[in-house]
Amino acid sequence: MSLQRYHLVTLGCPKNEVDSDKVEGTLLADGMSAVDDAGDADLIVVNTCAFIESARQESIDTILALDDQRREGAKLVVTGCMAERYGSELADVLPEVDSVAGFGVPVNSTVSSAAVPVSLGPTRGSKSAERPIPVFDLLNLPRAASSRPWAYVKIAEGCDRKCGFCAIPSFRGAQRSRSIDDIVAEVEQLGAREVILVAQDLASFGNDTGNRGGIVSLVRTVSDTVDRVRLLYLYPSDLTDPLVDAIVDSGVVYFDLSLQHVSSSLLRRMRRWGNGQKFLSRIEAIRRLAPDAAFRSNFIVGYPGETEDDHAELLEFVEAAQLDWCGFFSYSRESGTYAADLDGVVAPELMAERLTELTEIQDRITTERRAALIGSTIEVLVDDAGIGRSHREAPEIDGIVNLPGDLEVGELHLVRVTDSAGPDLVADRV
Ligand code: SF4
Repeated sequence: MSLQRYHLVTLGCPKNEVDSDKVEGTLLADGMSAVDDAGDADLIVVNTCAFIESARQESIDTILALDDQRREGAKLVVTGCMAERYGSELADVLPEVDSVAGFGVPVNSTVSSAAVPVSLGPTRGSKSAERPIPVFDLLNLPRAASSRPWAYVKIAEGCDRKCGFCAIPSFRGAQRSRSIDDIVAEVEQLGAREVILVAQDLASFGNDTGNRGGIVSLVRTVSDTVDRVRLLYLYPSDLTDPLVDAIVDSGVVYFDLSLQHVSSSLLRRMRRWGNGQKFLSRIEAIRRLAPDAAFRSNFIVGYPGETEDDHAELLEFVEAAQLDWCGFFSYSRESGTYAADLDGVVAPELMAERLTELTEIQDRITTERRAALIGSTIEVLVDDAGIGRSHREAPEIDGIVNLPGDLEVGELHLVRVTDSAGPDLVADRV
């Protein structure tokens, strides 16, 4: 059966969304067309996530659900982090899957995308040991113009850090930064008003290519190319003064700091840098420089060895830091990671209790910070009819600004905040 129509499902993080865009670009370049219903497709591709247990379960459930929907003879291909992490094992435990294809280190860039997902991966019943998983490099593949006024741009693959809880370096490999020229070419190709730069370890961009601190010139270059540039996943030790200045000068004064915890001893146990006092001083220094700066962070709750004192320190920090947005995640034991064999395991009930305490405090802080914006004038990018975002909101993870429905999508507008509802604002044209 020749493959005419494909159905692509993307799970996981913004980096996976970018990878899917590039897979889609190659399938379209191979003359295929997209269908919304998996039951109409000749080829079904699932771009999976394997970061933590719940994400893996969602990936497997999605694969099995698509297998139920597919029609006779259609191909089911698994790619993304599950393919990276488990490789051909996956093909063995999931006989429903016709092929597993990774996005890792380029092995044979001459292999065309359409061929790889179906023909080269281990097929049903094959002895996986005999046929290694084919991989090819997506990082610099072309993308179609963005269908939204904003777009994620992946500036590097892999990571050189060794955070105790994280398995990503084990299957995404060491950091490989793209060239600034390739990134700018992609930004221009996308044609979006706002570009969100993503990578596993964004602030380390260029460190592996002899362009240490290259993130600063990249931000300035992209900021000269599009209206808005936003950065996600900043490792705190690499938040240098030049980088802060570049972000402030870009006009999108938004800092997504991947802090994970604030207790010195626990951060050492996580094999990460910093502590609450250092983070607080940095945030306060940035607020003196840019009072309108917005902050987001993520924290892990229940990492092995987390004590009541560690938790109390994090509660205090969240109260003191007054961040705009926070994500709190229960620690998930990941085989093959440093933390997997640590003592001091925190009971699930205690983890849940700590998570609730933190979330309640942060929800109150976010609501208060949003309400404090009532009466202010802000500039928004209209993402959809009646929905926009100012510099304070990243797409898909933060609140939104509800707008008059006739403001043009894809345009920037000055509006006045008239009300707020939890994480969301209501605004009217000035
Ligand atoms: S910075 Fe740490 S948490 Fe992030 S991908 Fe690298 S090892 Fe994982």
